[in-house]
Amino acid sequence: MLISLEDVRRGIENDEFVPFFQPLVTLRTGQLAGFEVLARWHHPSAGILPPDRFIPIAEQNGWIGALTKRLMQRAFEAGKLIPEPLTLAFNVSPLQLHDLGLPKQIQSAAEELGFPLQRVVIEVTESAVVDNVERAQTISNELKALGCKIALDDFGTGYSSLLHLQSLPFDELKVDRSFVGSMIQRRESRKIVAAVVGLGQSLGLTAVAEGIETREQAEMLLWLGCELGQGWFFGRPVPAEDLPATVELSREKISFNHSTNLWGDLAGNALPSQRLAHLQAVYDGAPVGLALLDRNLCYVTLNQRLADMNGATVEEHLRRPVAEMVPRAFHHFEAFIRRSLEGEVITGVEARRPPGPGQGDRDYLLSYQPVRDEGDEVIGVSVAVVDITDRKAAEAALRESEDHYRHMVELNPQIPWVLDAHGNAVAISPRWEQVTGMSAATAEGAGFLEAIHPEDRPRVESVIAASIHSGDPIDVECRIVSRNDRWRWVRSRGAARRDPSAKIIRWYGSADDIDDQKKAEEALRKSEEQLKAIFNSVPVGILLADAPAGRLSMSNPEARRIFRYPVPSSYSVENYAQWGAIRVNGRRLESAEYPLARALRGEKTRIEEALCLRADGTEAWVSLLGAPIVREDGSVQGAVVVVQDIDEIKQERERLLTLAEALIKELKSQTSPADREPISS
Ligand code: C2E
Ligand code: CA
Ligand code: CA
Repeated sequence: MLISLEDVRRGIENDEFVPFFQPLVTLRTGQLAGFEVLARWHHPSAGILPPDRFIPIAEQNGWIGALTKRLMQRAFEAGKLIPEPLTLAFNVSPLQLHDLGLPKQIQSAAEELGFPLQRVVIEVTESAVVDNVERAQTISNELKALGCKIALDDFGTGYSSLLHLQSLPFDELKVDRSFVGSMIQRRESRKIVAAVVGLGQSLGLTAVAEGIETREQAEMLLWLGCELGQGWFFGRPVPAEDLPATVELSREKISFNHSTNLWGDLAGNALPSQRLAHLQAVYDGAPVGLALLDRNLCYVTLNQRLADMNGATVEEHLRRPVAEMVPRAFHHFEAFIRRSLEGEVITGVEARRPPGPGQGDRDYLLSYQPVRDEGDEVIGVSVAVVDITDRKAAEAALRESEDHYRHMVELNPQIPWVLDAHGNAVAISPRWEQVTGMSAATAEGAGFLEAIHPEDRPRVESVIAASIHSGDPIDVECRIVSRNDRWRWVRSRGAARRDPSAKIIRWYGSADDIDDQKKAEEALRKSEEQLKAIFNSVPVGILLADAPAGRLSMSNPEARRIFRYPVPSSYSVENYAQWGAIRVNGRRLESAEYPLARALRGEKTRIEEALCLRADGTEAWVSLLGAPIVREDGSVQGAVVVVQDIDEIKQERERLLTLAEALIKELKSQTSPADREPISS
C-alpha cells in the first residue's frame, strides 16, 4: 500500500501515531534499564505501520515536530507504568536539532505528565550534528541542563567523524545494529564493534548495542565491554498497554544468564584503564608462569614468574625463540606448542625439568591454549606453567603416610571403631569387613550389632547402654560373625571423648580378636576337666603340694578317704604329724624323710609298705610314691605324692600269715619238734 502525503496529514489530524516501547537491558545483570520509544502508525486500514513509511514524509513536510510532540505526550503518559529508575529514550530527527524550541517542548511535555527529565534520553543521529553544529550544541546543552541525556544513534553508519563525538555533550554511543547483526560471522564487524565500544569507553560514554537477536551476540558484546543492549533477544517493541507485563516479566524473561567470569565482572564495573592495570597485576602476580608465544614460537609477552623459572629477565625473553631460552627442555614441549598452534587446547601436561646447576629436579604442570584474533585465526599460543615440585613431594609424602596408616590399620589385628554419643557407629576400620564380610557402610549406625552373635547381642547392647549412661569405659567380650569360622571372639574396649563442657561426644575404641586365646582357654578348661575327672576317680590317692613350703594345694577324694580327713586343707610338711606320720618297718620317719619333703627337694621316693597315721588316729597300710613337679628350667615347682591303700591287702596277708602261723603251730604240736620249721615270710 502506497502512503500518500495526504494519508500522513490525516493520520496526524486523527492522532493515529502511537509510541511503541523496546526494552533496554544492562548486559552484565540482564536487568531492564529502560525503553526506547519507537513511532508506529495505527493505520485505520493497513494496521500497524513502521516509521520508515511515515517519518520521511513528516520530515519533508514539516510535521515531524508535531508528530514527535504527540508521541512524547503519549509516551510520558504511559511513563506511569515505567518504574524508577528506568529511562525513556526518544528519537529526534536531524531537522529537530535546528528547532531551538525543542528543549522547551520536551520539558513541558515531561513536566505536564510528571515524568522526570533525568530519566529522559534523546537519541540523535550524526547527520543531525553535521548540518549545524553550533545550533545542535546549543540545543544539546540546554537539554543537558534540563537533566536529559544525549545519545549518538547509529554510530558508524554516517559520517562517523571523531570530531562530532567531541562537539556535542554525548552520554551514550549506540552501536548500529548492522554491525551487531553480522559480528558473529564477520570478523570486520566484530572489529568495528570492539573499536566503537572501546572508543566509547575511552571517552567515558556508555556503549549501547542495538539489534541484538541472539544470546551469542549478547555475550560477545558483554565480553567486549558493552554496557547496554536492546534487540529482539531481549524484547520486541511493545504498545503502552503491554508495558506492565514487560516490566513485570523483565527479571525472568529479559535477563540472560551469561556465564559469570572474570571478564563479566571486569567488563561490567571497571574502566578500561583499571581493567588493564588489574590484568597486569594479575598477570605479574600470578603464582603461575605465563607467556604469549607468536607463530614463530617467540615470546611476545611473559610475566616475571616465567622469566624467573627460565632464569633470565623478562626483557631478555622478548622476541626471542623459546628454543633459545630453554634449550634443554624445549624438545619436551615443542610438540604441544605446535598442536596448540593448530587450535588444540592442551592442559595438564606434567614435565620434569632436569636440574640446573645447583638445583634439584623440578616438576611442572603445563598448559597451552591457542590465542585467536577476532577472525578466529590462531595468532599464537598462551602458555601457563605451574611449578608443582612441592605439591608432588607433598603428594608422595601423603601417599606414603597414607600407606603406612592403611597398613597399620589393615594389618592390625585390632578393629578400631568410633561410636557417637548414642552408641551408633560412625566409623569402623576396614578390618571389620575383612573379618566379618560386612561392609563398613552397613556397619554404621546400629548395623554392627547384626554381626554379633544373637546370644551375645543383648549383653553387648546393655554394656554400651550402661557406659553411655555412666561414662565408664566400654569393655565387653562377644562373638562376631566371621567369614572363615562362623564366629570369632572379640574383646571390645573403648573410652569416651568429651567436649569442653564434659559432654560425651564420641567413643573411641577397638575390638581385639581374642578368639585364639578363648579357644586355648576352652581347650585348657576341657583338659583340666578331664584331668579332674581322672584325678577324682583314680583308685589311688594323689596329693599335690607347692614348692617351697610344701603346702598342700590339691588332693583327690581317694587321698582323703585313705587319710580320713574331710576336706583338703592347708596341711604342710610340718604338721604331718597330726595325721600323716609314717612308720616304715616300725621306725617313725623324720619329717625330712617324708616322700613329699624329699620330692620338694627334687628326689623321687618309693616306699612299698608303710604304716600311716590317719586323721582319726587310726593307722593304715599304704604304699607311697613321691616325685617332684619340675619346671622347664629344672627348678622344682611342687610335689606329687601318690598313695595306694594296701591296708586290706596287708591285713589280708596279715590274716593269712596269722592263719598260717596258727596252722603251723597246730601242725607243730602234732608233728615232731624236728619238723618245726617256720614257713617263713
Ligand atoms: P533506530 O533508532 O535505530 O531504532 C531501532 C530500530 O531497530 C527500530 O526500528 C527497532 O524496531 C529495530 N530493532 C530493534 N531490535 C531489533 C532487532 O533485534 N533486530 C532488528 N532487525 N531490528 C531491531 P523501527 O522501529 O523500524 O525504527 C526504525 C527507525 O526509525 C529508527 O531507527 C529511528 O531512526 C526511526 N524512528 C523510529 N521512531 C522514531 C521517532 O519517533 N522519531 C524519529 N525521528 N525517528 C524515529
Ligand atoms: Ca534510536
Ligand atoms: Ca539506531
